[in-house]
Amino acid sequence: MKVYSRKFDCPEKENCNVDTLTTGAGQPVGDKLNVITAGPRGPLFIQDSVFLDEMAHFDRERIPERVVHAKGAGAFGFFEVTHDISRYCKAKIFHPVGKRTSVSVRFSTVGGEAGSADTVRDPRGFACKFYTEEGNWDLTGNNTPIFFIRDPFLFPSFIHTQKRNPQTHLKDADMTWDFFSLRPETLHQLSFLYSDRGIPDGFRHMNGYGSHTFKLVNDRKEAVYCKFHFKTNQGIKNLSVETARQLASDDPDYSIRDLYNAIATGNCPSWSFYIQVMTFQEAQAHRWNPFDVTKVWPHKDFPLIPVGQMVLNKNPVNYFTDVEQIAFDPSNMPPGIEPSPDKMLQGRLFSYPDTHRHRLGANYLQLPVNCPFKCRVANYQRDGPMCSTDNQGGAPNYFPNSFSGPETQPLAIEHSLTLTNDVARYNSSNDDDYSQVTAFYLHVLNADQRRRLCENIAGHLKDAQLFIQNRMVCLLNKVHPDYAAQVRSLLEQYNANGTQKAVIRTYSRHPSADRSNL
Ligand code: NDP
Repeated sequence: MKVYSRKFDCPEKENCNVDTLTTGAGQPVGDKLNVITAGPRGPLFIQDSVFLDEMAHFDRERIPERVVHAKGAGAFGFFEVTHDISRYCKAKIFHPVGKRTSVSVRFSTVGGEAGSADTVRDPRGFACKFYTEEGNWDLTGNNTPIFFIRDPFLFPSFIHTQKRNPQTHLKDADMTWDFFSLRPETLHQLSFLYSDRGIPDGFRHMNGYGSHTFKLVNDRKEAVYCKFHFKTNQGIKNLSVETARQLASDDPDYSIRDLYNAIATGNCPSWSFYIQVMTFQEAQAHRWNPFDVTKVWPHKDFPLIPVGQMVLNKNPVNYFTDVEQIAFDPSNMPPGIEPSPDKMLQGRLFSYPDTHRHRLGANYLQLPVNCPFKCRVANYQRDGPMCSTDNQGGAPNYFPNSFSGPETQPLAIEHSLTLTNDVARYNSSNDDDYSQVTAFYLHVLNADQRRRLCENIAGHLKDAQLFIQNRMVCLLNKVHPDYAAQVRSLLEQYNANGTQKAVIRTYSRHPSADRSNL
């Protein structure tokens, strides 16, 4: 489907012939096929500003690729409130029942580059931007309710293990399983990842989760902790390993195509939206740390409360402006939604806007897809590269002032948090890393699903060195002896048959270690 738009929306452009080719600066172009040369065989002239304009812009077409979530698809639609949750949350997006709010969503894989295949085993990003009248709310989630690690200090290292070996530029099973087997808190998420849900059938047939614990505040300043869940109304569908492999070569953009075609043909996907709620007293008494993103809140203790539904009914008009430039930031929260102490969430509150300022520039919130268009931005921030608004005209750029500059809003003051602990670097590696994984293995998966989980793990772990394989099997044994036994037996078959990928091991010692020999 071809989409061409001629967006000449300024009335002063009335006399402009939209069929005339121009330079970036708007001068009409006489010839777009032949550069200016001295004689028919060259050389070129630097005065050919039409050619220079074209090449110079082309040279700058790429912005830095996202370090994670580089490959993705976007769509637009609305969120509609179906149930009243005012007793928990004052945010205007949730009131009244029936209210609709515009949303944009970006789905993605995590570890691969922008050109990688869609059907790989990888978590899927599920990032939503709600354009509310109290500013944008970004719920920057995944298709899993949990994450691999609980301390953000480990995030860059964890992501490095999912990307390429620094010497060979190859994906490296040693890196992945060395890290997993050294950090038992990864067991829960890795068990999801290697289960059937690890390769969703496109983006429409998977759930989304805010994953972290958040705080909701009502208009009486009462707060509860909360988790957000999107359940697909299309039903969960996953791809078999064989189909996913086939698609990775035949149709590597399978998920982007599936979403685009569904919306283009009016088969608009939707998700039902729920919250789980935990009081502060329950949080104190809870068996697990409720702010640990490697754990779920059990459904039977904290049932899902319906809130609304999200419908995606509009495709991007231009991929770069609508999807490549979209920038989600978990710290974008309207009054009534706040962060919890969840360490991973707190780390992301910094890293997301930081990366956008690097990738898109200090004024990235002025880009149309990121701009909070349902409210008026009024503050004391000015200037910066690529300022594309009126820069707030002649309004005062300091606060306080005596010239009608924007004032603070007492109703927007955050809920307070009482802290009594000592400030220190607390080691969280002694938390319970096993019992929820055991519940998942024994009670959520049936025997066939358990078998496929073990096959999927062994099929990748076989490419790691033997000492790493053994350490991983020991960890699985702590989840359940059957889990370890199945994986061990498959690994033994692989190792006996010599079916490891041909890998030249590169990790030996850090180069600086060799300086002692100088
Ligand atoms: P429940 O039986 O109430 O919930 C189990 C949930 O597991 C289901 O609702 C479904 O989540 C999810 N699920 C089913 N199959 C898979 C799969 N192959 N991969 C990942 N998730 C799957 O039990 P509890 O709430 O007590 O949780 C028990 C265990 O279930 C947890 O330790 C956790 O491992 C897993 N789980 C729990 C979730 C929760 O929010 N409580 C969410 C997801 C998994 P959904 O309905 O969201 O599709």
